[in-house]
Amino acid sequence: MKRTDKLLAAMPENTAALLHNPSNIFYLSGYTGEGLLLVGPEMRAVITDFRYVEAAQKQCPGFAVHAIRAGVSHVQLAHELLQNAGIGRLAIEDNVITVRGMREIEKAMPGIEFIPLDFKPEKLREVKDDDELSRIERACDITCQAFEYICGFIAPGRTEREVQLALDYKMLQLGAEGLAFDTIVASGENGSLPHAVPGEREIREGDMVTIDFGARFEGYDADMTRTVAVGQPSEKMRRIYEIVLHAQETAQAAIAPGMKCSDIDKIARDIITEAGYGDCFGHSTGHGVGIDIHEEPRVSSRSQQILTPGNIVTVEPGIYVPGLGGVRIENTCVVTETGVRALCGASKELRIL
Ligand code: ZN
Ligand code: ZN
Repeated sequence: MKRTDKLLAAMPENTAALLHNPSNIFYLSGYTGEGLLLVGPEMRAVITDFRYVEAAQKQCPGFAVHAIRAGVSHVQLAHELLQNAGIGRLAIEDNVITVRGMREIEKAMPGIEFIPLDFKPEKLREVKDDDELSRIERACDITCQAFEYICGFIAPGRTEREVQLALDYKMLQLGAEGLAFDTIVASGENGSLPHAVPGEREIREGDMVTIDFGARFEGYDADMTRTVAVGQPSEKMRRIYEIVLHAQETAQAAIAPGMKCSDIDKIARDIITEAGYGDCFGHSTGHGVGIDIHEEPRVSSRSQQILTPGNIVTVEPGIYVPGLGGVRIENTCVVTETGVRALCGASKELRIL
C-alpha cells in the first residue's frame, strides 16, 4: 500500500490532510523543496511557488503540482483545491502549526472543519520499509568507513575541530549527501559533555576521544558513536569503557519485537547503576532514526512503546564524569522479525590509537 493510501486509511472519510512538516512531506511524496502537501481522497497535490515547480514534478510522480499566483497564498490555494473536490474537512499537523499559523489557516479557509492529524504520518514513519532500510544501511556503511579513516587521522596534537572537519569531509567524499547532524568530537575532560561542540583543544597522549556522527544518504540518517583511546588510558577510564560496552551490548542484544522500550532502557541503566555510575548516565538509552535524526520510538524509561519489526533505533549508553571525561558507544539497529541487527559494523572493542 502506498504511504498516502495508508495515511488516508487512518483518517475519517472525506477528509484531506495538509502537511507543513518537510520530513512528513518528503516521506509521503519524495518532495524536498518548499511548500505544502495536500493529500485527500482522489487528491495528491504539491502546493509550491515558481522556483520549485520543475523539481516537484520530477520528484513526485502521481502528484499534481500547483504554483501560487499573485495575491493567493499557499493556504488559499489549498482551500480552492478542497472546494473544487468537495472536501469539507481538513486534518492539520497539530504538533507543527503555531497558534498564529492556525489563525491564518482558519481565515483563509472559511467553511472548512479542522481536526488534528494527531501524529499519523509520524506513526507511519516509525516502521521502515525495505527501501528506507537500504538507505539507512548505506548511510551507516558510509559512517563506518569514515570511522576507519578517522582512526588513522587522530593523533596527539590534532585539535577536535581538525578531526571533525576531516571526518565530515570524508563522509561527503564517500557519497553522503550531507551530515545527519553536527559531528561531535570530545577529547579528554571534554568527554563529560554529551553534546560537546568540537573546539581548539589539542588531543593528548592518554586521552579518550568520543566521536558521535552520521552520514545522510537519500534523505535518511545514520547515527553512530565510538570512543577511542590515544595512547594508554588510565585504569579508571578503561574500566568505564568496559562498563559502557557491557551496557551497550546487553541492551542491544535484548532488542526484539514485543520488547518494551522502557525495558531496553532499564537493561542499560541497571548495568551502569550497579557499577556505581548511575548518576553519570543522564540521558535516555536511544531513539528512533530515519528522515529525522531523533524520531519515534524513544528508548527511554518513560516510553511504554512496544518494539515492532521495521523500527530503527539507536542504543547509546554513556558515562560522563565531570573533570575526568566520558565514554559513549552507539549503534543504529533495526528490529527484525526475530530480534535485532546492528547496522553499524565498526568494532566496539576499545581501540588504542
Ligand atoms: Zn549519535
Ligand atoms: Zn543518537
